[in-house]
Amino acid sequence: MSASLSNGAAMAKIVGVTLSERVVAGLVVDHKLPEGLSSFPEEAGDEYALVEMPAEGIVEVLCQQVLAAAGAVRDLAAVGVGVPGLVRNGVIEEAPNLPQMKGARLTEMLAAQLRSNGINAPVSIVNDADAFAAGIAALHGKLDTVIRVWTLGVGIGYGRYPLTAGVWEGGHTVVTLDDKENYCGCGGRGHLEGIMGHRSMRLRFLDMEPEEVFEAAKTGDTRCLDFKKLWHKALAAATATSIHLRGPGKFFLAGFNVRFVDMPMLKDYLQQMVKMSPLQSYSIEIVQDDQETRVIGTAVSAEQEVCG
Ligand SMILES: [Zn+2]
Repeated sequence: MSASLSNGAAMAKIVGVTLSERVVAGLVVDHKLPEGLSSFPEEAGDEYALVEMPAEGIVEVLCQQVLAAAGAVRDLAAVGVGVPGLVRNGVIEEAPNLPQMKGARLTEMLAAQLRSNGINAPVSIVNDADAFAAGIAALHGKLDTVIRVWTLGVGIGYGRYPLTAGVWEGGHTVVTLDDKENYCGCGGRGHLEGIMGHRSMRLRFLDMEPEEVFEAAKTGDTRCLDFKKLWHKALAAATATSIHLRGPGKFFLAGFNVRFVDMPMLKDYLQQMVKMSPLQSYSIEIVQDDQETRVIGTAVSAEQEVCG
């Protein structure tokens, strides 16, 4: 797969687009963004503009942003779109944060819209966490290795590279058999996100913000320290499960809550959970989560799907 990337397809022009609270797009050439990024809405603080839009409106916004990113370029090799949720065969099967997109045949809809605007390029959609993993692989020059990334935010994202068919809802990995652990956004019991997700932490500690919990853990507050340990054990458990299923390799951590990560504590728990020596060649690293990496990642994913 990496061979085709470094040869003929390397200079292909691809527009990468990410859809979350905003639509961000960029023209990607040779895994770089020569023209920078464009976005909708442009103003910060207008994040609900997309949430209230019907699916057709969102497709229209995606199309406009692709056109803006493409500029005068008309011979795009592909358009890659990263979306939050479960994506299969060009269809968004589940999109918890943009429910109007559930069931949308996004590949078809966007390709048709682009055609009527003079761009005849294949459209490829990918889960945004997987796109992020692909972006990390491209920017760290590791397109031939397996990369997994946990994003610690409102929910817990799990992305992996290279793209593989299947469902990879790693954020919902079961990490405890405790009946009382039911804070996950999906409603499932014992899930990683139910412990680590920002939303879940707020539900658990109704009287304290997550920042205050981790601060109090430092000064020895028992309840908060116990939770800090649970939080790290949960991440270690989900990572250990991934290692036991897919083998060791590089894990990255990103998202606004990496600020709570106590790396020695995490590594200590992980060491206790992964004991087979052939599986111990793993590493964990914190990486910056930015729009550039994500947009480049959608383009890399599209390139591999369409040109690879
Ligand atoms: Zn869940």
